[in-house]
Amino acid sequence: MKISIIGTGYVGLVSGACLAQKGHHVFCVDVDPVKITKIAQGVPPIYEKGLEDILRNHVHVNLFPTTDLSKAVLESDVSLVAVGTPFNGSEIDLTYIKQVSQQIGNVLKEKPGYHLVVVKSTVVPGTTDSVVLPILEQASGKKAGVDFGVGMNPEFLREGEAVEDFLKPDRIVVGGWDTKSQELLEKVYEGFSGVPVLKTSNSTAEMIKYTSNCLLATLISFSNEIGNLCASMGNVDALEVMQGVHLDKRLSPILPDGQRVVPSLTTYLEAGCGFGGSCFPKDVKAIIAHGIKEGLPMELLQAVVEVNRRQPMEIINLLKKHFPSLQGVKIGVLGLAFKPGTDDMRESPAIPIITMLVKLGAKVQAYDPVANQEAKHFLNGVDVSFVDGLQEVVEDVDAVVILTRWKEFADVQQFIANRDPQPVLVDGRRILDKKSIAKYEGIGA
Ligand code: NAD
Repeated sequence: MKISIIGTGYVGLVSGACLAQKGHHVFCVDVDPVKITKIAQGVPPIYEKGLEDILRNHVHVNLFPTTDLSKAVLESDVSLVAVGTPFNGSEIDLTYIKQVSQQIGNVLKEKPGYHLVVVKSTVVPGTTDSVVLPILEQASGKKAGVDFGVGMNPEFLREGEAVEDFLKPDRIVVGGWDTKSQELLEKVYEGFSGVPVLKTSNSTAEMIKYTSNCLLATLISFSNEIGNLCASMGNVDALEVMQGVHLDKRLSPILPDGQRVVPSLTTYLEAGCGFGGSCFPKDVKAIIAHGIKEGLPMELLQAVVEVNRRQPMEIINLLKKHFPSLQGVKIGVLGLAFKPGTDDMRESPAIPIITMLVKLGAKVQAYDPVANQEAKHFLNGVDVSFVDGLQEVVEDVDAVVILTRWKEFADVQQFIANRDPQPVLVDGRRILDKKSIAKYEGIGA
């Protein structure tokens, strides 16, 4: 099939690359010429495992990066819209969605034949049918269900595992305005045999995405609240508590041969320094705002946001146990991105933590295996220095703070073991054995 992807960010680029790998003829469209030039050279503008190989094999073969939306829509059968849907402080910001709907509608006016427009961005329920569809009809002068189709296909990839998640999805949700839209959208995924396909309305597809993200965010805030209580009691460690909870056979089922299945869901039931990223924070807030519009205040989700807003400050509290004043204290921060495997800094807990440390007078140096460059933009104006390795970041510091769960950070122990005095180690992700570190502090410990 000929597919145009509008918006070539984390979702659009991975989707485009993977659909090209599956044999489709794909146009990746973006307004950002710098991104498009990089992709055209086979260079991914983001860090994502496996992406570069796919680009190398498919760019200019069956993957065509372009800034020309009009040509891409005219030459394709289906357009997948993957532009950003940020939270503007009071509700979801649909500016990009509306712009793209208008642009596609203008092209459809001139395009003979049927075309399917699919929203892949995360949008609040009702957006595809009540915002996108009317703009398409008005701009094209054509009729949905007759001249063009409208679908909704939420994306569930996890950054850091995005290529693998896209190529081996756990589900494909196919929302459609009508059966014809659903059937054409299903064809996009014909090469994904054995994957459950859930066919539904556009609004239900939109709600599935929010419900999934809100559930996971709720598990994290729940775990953090429990972790903070454990820590304040002093003699109960949240790590052990959660291990005990994970052993519930409803969470980690026991197979007939006695083996345990340990689902990755248990990783959301661990105390840490808070969730971040481009999805959970904005999506939970957007659905709360949507609930309020519907006359339904979502109190549980409001608490999820509030717990998460406070959680990064737990790191500061742990440091203050050793340094009542942080003025002049030298701190090495390990990890900047909101999770390992990505350079995405959007809403990373590292941002409020480092900003607060600097405000309190600490001297901060930081290291992330892939996100240093991206972090420089997000921490622009904050007095922090970036170093290039694990050993350098912990050299000569009074305290080490772990903020991202990179596996390689486990090696930090060997770099501080022989130091005298030993630096304080604040483990924001509970990846180290607390008994083997002289001055250990951990979330929930
Ligand atoms: P992003 O900001 O990385 O990418 C969006 C891209 O759209 C940018 O490159 C931007 O230049 C481009 N764009 C904006 N207006 C455009 C236009 N008129 N024409 C062409 N391109 C345009 O965003 P993202 O992280 O890829 O997220 C996209 C959507 O997918 C959001 O709704 C997000 O909630 C959702 N989502 C994201 C993830 C994730 O892990 N990042 C996972 C699932 C769903």
